[in-house]
Amino acid sequence: MRNYKRILVTSALPYANGPLHVGHIAGAYLPADIFVRYCRLKKRDVVYICGSDENGVPIMLRARAEGVSPQVVVDRFHKMIEESFTKLGIHFDYYGRTSSEMHKETSQEFFRNLNAKNQFITKSEEQLYDPEAKLFLADRFIFGECPRCGYDHAYGDQCEKCGSTLSPADLINPRSSITNATPVKKETTHWYLPLEKIQPELEAWINSRENWRPNVMGQIKSWLDAGLRDRAVTRDLPWGVSIPEEIAENAGVESKGKVLYVWFDAPIGYISATKEWAQKIGDAELWKTYWQDEETMLVHFIGKDNIVFHCLIFPAMLMKHGNYVLPENVPANEFLNLEGQKLSTSRNYAVWLHEYLEKFEPDSLRYSLACNMPETKDADFSWSEFQARHNNELADIVGNFVNRTFTFIQKYYDGRLPQPDTFDALDNEVLQQIKNAGENIGTAIEAYQFKEATRHFMDLARFANKYFNDKAPWKTRKDNPAVCATSLHLCTRVAYALAILMQPVLPFTAKKIQNLLNLGDEHLASWDNAQEFPLEPGHVFNQPEIIFTKIEDERIQAEIDRLKTSNAEDKTESDESTFEQITIDDFARVQLRVAKIINAENLKGAKKLLKLQVAIGEEKRQVIAGIAQHYEPEELIGKHVVVVANLQPAKLRGELSEGMILAAVDKDGGLCLVAPEKKIASGAVVR
Ligand SMILES: [Zn+2]
Repeated sequence: MRNYKRILVTSALPYANGPLHVGHIAGAYLPADIFVRYCRLKKRDVVYICGSDENGVPIMLRARAEGVSPQVVVDRFHKMIEESFTKLGIHFDYYGRTSSEMHKETSQEFFRNLNAKNQFITKSEEQLYDPEAKLFLADRFIFGECPRCGYDHAYGDQCEKCGSTLSPADLINPRSSITNATPVKKETTHWYLPLEKIQPELEAWINSRENWRPNVMGQIKSWLDAGLRDRAVTRDLPWGVSIPEEIAENAGVESKGKVLYVWFDAPIGYISATKEWAQKIGDAELWKTYWQDEETMLVHFIGKDNIVFHCLIFPAMLMKHGNYVLPENVPANEFLNLEGQKLSTSRNYAVWLHEYLEKFEPDSLRYSLACNMPETKDADFSWSEFQARHNNELADIVGNFVNRTFTFIQKYYDGRLPQPDTFDALDNEVLQQIKNAGENIGTAIEAYQFKEATRHFMDLARFANKYFNDKAPWKTRKDNPAVCATSLHLCTRVAYALAILMQPVLPFTAKKIQNLLNLGDEHLASWDNAQEFPLEPGHVFNQPEIIFTKIEDERIQAEIDRLKTSNAEDKTESDESTFEQITIDDFARVQLRVAKIINAENLKGAKKLLKLQVAIGEEKRQVIAGIAQHYEPEELIGKHVVVVANLQPAKLRGELSEGMILAAVDKDGGLCLVAPEKKIASGAVVR
């Protein structure tokens, strides 16, 4: 890597709408953290920036579903995500959030700058508008009857019951999910980044990039080959960074509810978080050096779903602004699968970081993911491989080597570093191996090859373990004490080198070995120290402790079983984007009851709807259900079904509906009601 004066590293901003899972970590955070820890050890000037992405429609929808403000949602997940990062040892210099005042100012300044340079074009078109809320409606905020399956609450972009992709114009009786009003068409104006025009400049810059991963370049080229299209940078939404008022006014546009599109403001989040970092360390202008000085090497770590934004669109924004450095590299990772299947937040088919950290050590996951990083192709995380990596490599190789070395010294040398004698060929090989490991790991990390770096590290530990065996100190202790002392001395030298060289991947274990060595931080704070040895014979070590205990089969089996249950829940759903993941508390808010259908009749003028009278215990209610094409009214009377009992009442075709009946729907449009499997009283709680 070119010898830049300073390095600025960013990881994709996690979206504050749910917790982190292992796929996120393997994609954008662990590789960056390994890289940054290595750069710090090499005494490079490096700053690592990240933060929560807190704008956008999914956060608003989640807030609406929970009946809270978007701020409540982002506060919850921002805290949760930040805690998980800390516990996993992902160490940012600053972790910001895009709901901050600094971010608003920075994004608006960026927008003003591009606008003043005439870098935007505006386009007006008709979109659906809620006349009561006085708001334009994103497709997700419009609901109505699905033209395919009759579901009465399909969204303007998709029916979650039958999975059909829709546009708002397809919906029967469309309404606003904010006020229930019927949307009207109204003209709206948006600002666009004219990427079509910028493409030649972008292409020239991309062609000048060296050492970018082939998978990243491949994706960029296919975007460029297809031709970039102008992208709206504003949206009509009540949540987000509003566009500068004076710009809206000058364009004759109402500024209320007009915000920066989240793809535009999110990457600016890196800049605003760097500003906040600079303020925090008491040098408010320092951010400029990291973003605007040519001697800065900017590296974005992301997953492959973010390539277009970080390799084309954000660079286009930075170019057109003009004062910023462009990324030196964007080592995007491919996806991580789980037990051979796609991770799915909606099906809860994932290893959630906060749950993992309650059960296992952070370094075990860091190691397992580092060995198996999806660097140039998708990779698979499996619990059995995780267990094998932990037990057979971390515990049996690293742990065993360190433990036997310090236990032996404790027992036969009173816990003090033995005085070495002359070195034989194998002893000299130890020093050579330490040297090779330092160089090989470093070269691999600088080339963003983290799998290979981790392999080199484990090779050194494996060599050391074999060295201990070959030297057989338990024998030489009696028949050749000088050889025994030399070999133990060299073993502590390897332990010391490991404690430095493992820091990028295994920071917590490095601390444990540092503690055994009884050494201050200053001795382990430099990569090149691994080639030296600061200890004098007689140095007193701390009492040995086991650094890795093995993970038993039962604990792994429990995790595999949990995944099987999650996975079984929704076999008919092929598109994971149709669902948002919820917590058990979210689920508890939905009150499900067994109800008995007392009467059923067709609803005049509605081919798909039936009007049902149901009893929930003593209580009688009317429910309108979109099941007329699947059931005759007569066959329903007397049946026990499950209803959502606390759904807000709604009017359908002028009839009051006080609840919703649960039905299972398959991809081919088949439908059947969900019924208790045995006889049970109406009013019974379903949970
Ligand atoms: Zn549908």
